[in-house]
Amino acid sequence: MAVLGSLKTFKGGHYFGLFEGTPRGKRLQAAPLPAKVIIPLRQGFSAEVASTVKEGDYVRTGQVIGRAEPNSTKPSTPVHASISGKVTKIEKRPHPLGGEALSVIIESDGKDEWVKLDRPANYEKLPPEELGKILYEAGVTSGGQAGFPTVYHSALATPEKIRYLIINAVETEPFCEATDQLLYEEFDKFVNGLKILRQALGNVQVHIGLGYNKPRIYEELIERLEYYDWCTIHQLRPKYPQGDDAVLVRTLLGILLPQRGYATDVGCVVQDVQQCVAAYEAVVEGKPFVERVVSVAGSAIKEPGNYRVRVGTPIGNLLENNLKSNGRIVLGSVLRGQAQGDLDAPITRETPAVIALREAERELFPVAGPGFDRDSFTGAYLSLPWVRYKRATTSLNGNPRPCVKCGYCVDVCPQNLVPALLGEYSANGLLSEAQDIDLFACIECGLCAYVCPSKIPLLEQIREGKRKILQGA
Ligand code: SF4
Ligand code: SF4
Repeated sequence: MAVLGSLKTFKGGHYFGLFEGTPRGKRLQAAPLPAKVIIPLRQGFSAEVASTVKEGDYVRTGQVIGRAEPNSTKPSTPVHASISGKVTKIEKRPHPLGGEALSVIIESDGKDEWVKLDRPANYEKLPPEELGKILYEAGVTSGGQAGFPTVYHSALATPEKIRYLIINAVETEPFCEATDQLLYEEFDKFVNGLKILRQALGNVQVHIGLGYNKPRIYEELIERLEYYDWCTIHQLRPKYPQGDDAVLVRTLLGILLPQRGYATDVGCVVQDVQQCVAAYEAVVEGKPFVERVVSVAGSAIKEPGNYRVRVGTPIGNLLENNLKSNGRIVLGSVLRGQAQGDLDAPITRETPAVIALREAERELFPVAGPGFDRDSFTGAYLSLPWVRYKRATTSLNGNPRPCVKCGYCVDVCPQNLVPALLGEYSANGLLSEAQDIDLFACIECGLCAYVCPSKIPLLEQIREGKRKILQGA
C-alpha cells in the first residue's frame, strides 16, 4: 500500500467551517419505520424502470418492485420495496431531483418482513461478473453520476474499460455528516465493501481520498490495508468541492474529465462510503440497498441528527416536531440542491441530507455586503473568534446587485473558470461566447453564487445557459 503523506488539494474551493444545526459527532440512529413510503422508479442515475407490482399487491422489504424491460438499453438498476405492506398506488409523482417519475406508494403493515438476496458461500472466490450481478440486483450500482459498471443495464461503461476505483471518503458539503459517521461506525463494512467493489471490477488499483481531519480512520486504514500493493491512500484537505468526481479524479490522479463527461470516460469509477457499505451488505448479508444514512440538519432544525432512513420515506417524517421556525427545505446539498415545497418528497438512494434553513427576516445589506471571509450568505460577514457556529439562513442579502468586480467567484472556482462572465453571457443569451469560455467545464458546485457579495445567482444563470444550449436555443 502506498500512503501519500503530503496533503493534496486543488486550486480554488472553500472551507465552510461549522454551521449552526450541524449534527457533528451525533451517532447514527434508526429513523422510525415510516407508515408509508413513496418510491420513485427512477433511483440514482437510473433511467425509469417498469413496475413489477400492481396496486393491491402485498410486498416485503427488499422485494423488487421495478426493473428495466428486457430489451431496454438505458442504464438502470432494479428498485426495491423498503418496507413490507400493501401497494396502494402506482402513479406519477414529483421527483426530488426534478420532473416527475412513476412512483410506487406502499402502506406499511408494521411487520417489516424481509426478502433477502441469495448469499454466495464464499464471495471472495467469485468472478467479477458474478459479483457484478449481485450488486446490480441489490441496486448498489446507482450512486455515482455514471454508476458502477456491470453488464446488466447499470452504467454507460463496461467493466473492461475501468482501471481505477476511487473511494471518496472526504466529506466537504456543509451539514452532511452522516456519511462520516457511517465511516466511523461501520469501518469494517467499509473496508470489506471496497474490497468487494474492487473485485467486481477485476481487481483494479484503488485510490482512497480521505480527509486529513480523520486521523483515527487514517491509522486504521493503514493497519488494515498495509500489505496490499493495489491500494493508495491520499490525505486531502477537506475543502469544498473536493468530493466532486471531476475534482477528486484530478486531485488524486492528475486526470482531467472531459467536458460533459463522466469519470468512467477516463477509466475511473468513483464510489463513496455509503456505496462501499451497501456493497458489503448486499454481498455478505443479502441486503438490497433500501436504507441509507441521512443527516437532518440546518438552522431551522431543533435537534439535528444522523439517521438510517428507508428509501422512500417522506421528508415530512424526518422533520415532524423538529422544526423550530419556518424553514426552507433543501435535499442533499445546500449549495446545489433544490428547495422542496412538498413534505411528501421522498428520500432516495442518493439523498445524504435533509436541510432546513431558517427564512431570513430582513435584508442584511441594502448595498453590496463586505463579504469578509466570503461567507456573506451565512451572515458571518465578520469573523468573530468567539462565535463558533455560522448561521446559515435563506438570506441572499437582498436582491442581486451589479457585479462589483471583486473577483471572489474567480478565486473560488475549482475549475479555473470566470463565473462572472459565464453568468453574464448565459443571462444575456450570448451562448456561443459562454461556450468559448468553457461553460460546460462548470461542475455546478455553486461556490461562485455562495461567495458573491452582490448575490448574483450565478449558478442559476449558468444552468440556464447550459439548458438552452442543450435544447438548441
Ligand atoms: S463556475 Fe461552476 S465550477 Fe466554477 S464556482 Fe461556479 S458553479 Fe462552481
Ligand atoms: S460576480 Fe460577484 S463574486 Fe464575481 S466578481 Fe462580480 S461581484 Fe464579485
